[in-house]
Amino acid sequence: MPSYPDLAAHADARSSPLTWTHRLTQLGPQFFTRLHPTPLAAPVWAMRNLDLLKDLAWPQSLLDEQHLQAFAGNALLPGADPLATVYSGHQFGQWAGQLGDGRAIWLGEAQSALGPQEIQLKGAGPTPYSRRGDGRAVLRSSIREYLCSEAMHGLGIPSTRALSLVASPEPVRREVMETAAVVARVAPSFLRFGHLEHFSAQGDVANLRALADHAIAHHLPECHARAEGWGGNVYAALLDVVQERTAQLLAQWQGVGFCHGVMNTDNMSLLGLTIDYGPFQFMDGFDPGHICNHTDTQGRYAYSRQPNVAYWNLFCLAQALLPLIEDQDLTLKVLEGYKTGFPRALGAVMRAKLGLTGDLATESAREADWSLVEDLLQLLASERVDYTHFWRQLSQAMAAGWPDMQGMQDLFLDRPRWQAWLARYRARVGAAPSQALGLAMLRVNPKFVLRNHLAEIAIRQAQNGDFSEIETLHNLLQSPFDEHPGLEAYADLPPDWAGQLEISCSS
Ligand code: AMP
Ligand code: MG
Repeated sequence: MPSYPDLAAHADARSSPLTWTHRLTQLGPQFFTRLHPTPLAAPVWAMRNLDLLKDLAWPQSLLDEQHLQAFAGNALLPGADPLATVYSGHQFGQWAGQLGDGRAIWLGEAQSALGPQEIQLKGAGPTPYSRRGDGRAVLRSSIREYLCSEAMHGLGIPSTRALSLVASPEPVRREVMETAAVVARVAPSFLRFGHLEHFSAQGDVANLRALADHAIAHHLPECHARAEGWGGNVYAALLDVVQERTAQLLAQWQGVGFCHGVMNTDNMSLLGLTIDYGPFQFMDGFDPGHICNHTDTQGRYAYSRQPNVAYWNLFCLAQALLPLIEDQDLTLKVLEGYKTGFPRALGAVMRAKLGLTGDLATESAREADWSLVEDLLQLLASERVDYTHFWRQLSQAMAAGWPDMQGMQDLFLDRPRWQAWLARYRARVGAAPSQALGLAMLRVNPKFVLRNHLAEIAIRQAQNGDFSEIETLHNLLQSPFDEHPGLEAYADLPPDWAGQLEISCSS
């Protein structure tokens, strides 16, 4: 085994505000390279997520002035054990070979009120896995990652979290010159499909097994019970748990109109979290073929393709796990779970959006409900009705009672088609009190999502040194189902200039 420097020995764990666990490091040096973040010039706090600190029961002092240098990458948190992990992956349908943390540096794993949590600094400088990249992240994309992580959390959608955002005047070259920033992100684990693909592709079954065992033991212990349904095969159970979490995640993305934009296997979390925020977008006008990533010329990651891409990615994961599962038929059978599980999960999400839950959700009604959903989505698509507005207005109209539904026809040019759908919906709801359904619908159909133009306004202000809009959006998006009187403008349709926004992979 090669020797590597024990950087952790330099840190003084006794004065740490965190109780470190660092279980990932037990895997050994085949899985990562220990290194320090690269210093960042003249850092300032742009955002500090004190609410997340509270949720984790980490001391508020962790984000005080004293720790600014640590979250900028200029000093080490006492007891941290910084490293970058290696992974591979399929990008845009092609095997891309070795990738790895090219600009995210893992500081460690610490105990929290929500279980052990890992911390990464994204944009903290080059690593052995940077390839030709500079190891940095620009302020623009870091604001988008910070805000969207927290917006997803506010929506109840699993995501990595954002702990802090540090800005710097340090120049970074992209299409134009921009400035650097560092996001501290937090998750129980940052393991991706690509971590397992890496060792499998090399035929390194021993390390593949070690990594799968680590994931099962520390992050997905439910695999042990699940294995009983798979003839005691715990690796089949691992695939099963991941496909199930992925199906749930995709159903939630589709339900809220979220496009990820870069669903490569290295951007797929083993824990079913939304990870790696790049050219993502919450759709404005509903368009199933919507492509949010300007670089995705083929539309591989278009909104309506996301569920199938997730399956394709799970197939890659299955292939990677085959040397451990050792049974091709069993592997394919586990994957089949997604084909039934995803539509079921999506059906549940869409029925909840329509208020069709509880007693209304009988088995026989489910089939009929799906045609109601499909016909509605076709109608929304044909008129490019704003996705978020539609669902919120429907919820509000229901909460106010059927007569209030009259105003909704203004959303449609083809009013007879809308009226025909509405009549079917009304018949389906039957005698159930619309007010009660409407109140439940207001808890699943958000008033506020992080539309591109909202992020863009916060970015432009921050680029002029004013971070207040990030804070406003962060506060708002923590409770996107509340009305927030006075902040109605944040629920408005995008202004004309937003149509010109082009969001690419460049970050
Ligand atoms: P992404 O498409 O953003 O998920 O990135 C794919 C791979 O490129 C990952 O291994 C990233 O760590 C790496 N990467 C992206 N941008 C940079 C950068 N500016 N410097 C170094 N590595 C990067
Ligand atoms: Mg990535």
